Formats: sequence, structure tokens, C-alpha cells
Amino acid sequence: MKVNQAEFIISAVGPSQYPPDALPEIALAGRSNVGKSSLINRMIQRKNLARTSSQPGKTQQLNYYKINSDLFFVDLPGYGYARVSKSKREIWGKFIEEYLLHREYLKLVLLVIDLRHPPSKDDQAMYSWLKHHGVPVCVVTTKADKITKGHWQKHVKIVKETLQFDKSDHFVLFSSELGLGKDELWSIIEQTIGY
Ligand code: GDP
Repeated sequence: MKVNQAEFIISAVGPSQYPPDALPEIALAGRSNVGKSSLINRMIQRKNLARTSSQPGKTQQLNYYKINSDLFFVDLPGYGYARVSKSKREIWGKFIEEYLLHREYLKLVLLVIDLRHPPSKDDQAMYSWLKHHGVPVCVVTTKADKITKGHWQKHVKIVKETLQFDKSDHFVLFSSELGLGKDELWSIIEQTIGY
């Protein structure tokens, strides 16, 4: 997809603020700091449209970015941040849950995971929850540039094994730094939204 226009639309704190446009939505899930904003910026070739690292754990909002008149990227609050109290976590858990289960325009969740480390308990829980509820998911392992190329496949294997990855899902090796995986991820998104 050629990105001619990309704009930040809203930080929605509830369903009444979701944009009314009937456009497909591609959501990004992952722990705080994993590199979701950087991934969005790389996909649209902008340095700073998606804010990198605002306040991890405090952003209980869905950040909507409109790409051309074709789709939205929806950045979900980062999960698994230790500073968030248990009760708060339950609240944003519900907020995400509602969106993921009932948003009719949601077409795909990009589950963003750090290639360097085995997926955390939260990553594992998120993946199996999405699978359990039949929410379409694509696993994107990012920060590949932080590992030597010769070790990539070993790390991919660990990620897949830890997640009990379903081979019928898409899996993309990514680096926002290098632009690695960008074209592959765009073609998965295009295929998903019937572009
Ligand atoms: P977010 O909290 O998930 O939105 O994470 P950010 O996009 O803000 O990234 C967190 C940190 O990781 C920032 O310092 C980024 O520059 C860095 N980062 C993100 N993606 C990559 C990547 O692919 N390669 C490298 N080397 N650094 C990255």
C-alpha cells in the first residue's frame, strides 16, 4: 500500500469516541515499550506520528491513526506493566477485551513481541486468549536488528514454541530500525482487508 496520508485521529477512552468511519481496523497489542509506536511509524514511513513511549501503563486509551482513506491502525494500551495496580489492570483489561471481542471493524490484531526474549506470561496469555476467542492475529517479532542475523531463526523457534504458535497464523520478523518485514506486513494487511 502506498501511504499518501497518515494522521492521528483520537485517543479514545471509550466506545463513544471511536471514529464513525466504516474502515477496517488493525490493532496493535504488546507490552509497554515493545516497539508498537515505532512499528506504526515505520509502516507509514514517518518518524514521529505515533508517539513513542508516552507513559507506559497509564495510557488507558485506544490511539487511532488513519491511513489514507483505507484503514485505521489502533494502538492498544501496553500490557504487563508492573507499576499498574491490580485493580487498574483489570479495568484496562476489560476495556481492551470489549474492543477486541465486539468491535465490528476490527480485522486483525498484530501481537508485537520482542524477538530477543521468550514471550512473557502476558504475551502467552494474550495470544491464547485471542486464539480462544477466534480473533484473527498476526505475530510480529520486532527489534530483529538487535540480534545477529545468524541467530534470528533460533529466536523465532523459541517464540513459536513458547506461544504454542498456530501455523495457520501469520508470523513476521520485523525491525523498525531496518524496515525489515515492512513489505511482508503490508501485504498481510492488504490481504486481510481485501485491498
Ligand atoms: P511502545 O511503547 O510499544 O510504543 O514502544 P516504542 O515504539 O516507543 O519503542 C520503545 C523503545 O524501543 C524506543 O526506544 C524505540 O526506539 C526502541 N525500538 C522500537 N522498535 C525498535 C527496533 O525495531 N529496533 C531497535 N533497535 N529499537 C527499537
